[in-house]
Amino acid sequence: MKQPAKLGKGETELIAAATAAIQQRYRDDWQEVGAALRTRSGKILTGVNLDAYLGRMAVCAEAVALGRAIVELGDSGIDTIVAVRHPSPGEKDQTIVVVSPCGACRELIFDYDPKARVIVPNGKSSAVIPIADLLPNKYSRGPER
Ligand SMILES: [Zn+2]
Repeated sequence: MKQPAKLGKGETELIAAATAAIQQRYRDDWQEVGAALRTRSGKILTGVNLDAYLGRMAVCAEAVALGRAIVELGDSGIDTIVAVRHPSPGEKDQTIVVVSPCGACRELIFDYDPKARVIVPNGKSSAVIPIADLLPNKYSRGPER
């Protein structure tokens, strides 16, 4: 894995958009993660996770943001994506922080843009890395064609 790149203005803007989304829509146990992605055309779309009483129906914030992008723009790729987690009421000393995408989201992001960049936690800061670095041996139904 290459050394992760430090964040620039565009990445900071994306984290701010994800943070604003979850600050606005946070509900304990229902919406705790916000996401923001920048399409290849430069538009920013946000999402929040959809938790569900039936756990397997839960949907990650990244998937919601991607769904909004597809509806509004069609498939326009993912330049960069980030997710942030809002602390629960019992975590009063915590703040909203960047979190790594779950394994399923790594697959999803790669499917929609194998060259996407992902903002991930990096010590007390964040860094941006290629999705491929987060997903060695990506799932495949058979031999690559
Ligand atoms: Zn996920």
